[in-house]
Amino acid sequence: MREKLIAVRHKTLGALRDAGLHLHAYCNNPGCHWSAPLDLPSIIARLGEHQSALPPDLAPRLVCSRCGGKNVAVVLSAAPELPDDAAAYLRQTNRHHNE
Ligand SMILES: [Zn+2]
Repeated sequence: MREKLIAVRHKTLGALRDAGLHLHAYCNNPGCHWSAPLDLPSIIARLGEHQSALPPDLAPRLVCSRCGGKNVAVVLSAAPELPDDAAAYLRQTNRHHNE
């Protein structure tokens, strides 16, 4: 279950930064699928280190910088790059259309 990627211990942006973890944004817009690492220090400067880092709290505050879409997913990762399989997973789970 990819949801396990979300470390429940690190609930705030400040905790993520202190743990050396990385956040990635992933655009759910069909035809965009832009993904990029989030710059934690600059997000903390904007939202504060006590801002919840849980995707349901954080994702609505993000906007895709490529297409301007607001349907952005947040992925927590120990790696500075979003793993390919995570991107593929997001692409899959984002298909809401029933076959
Ligand atoms: Zn986008």
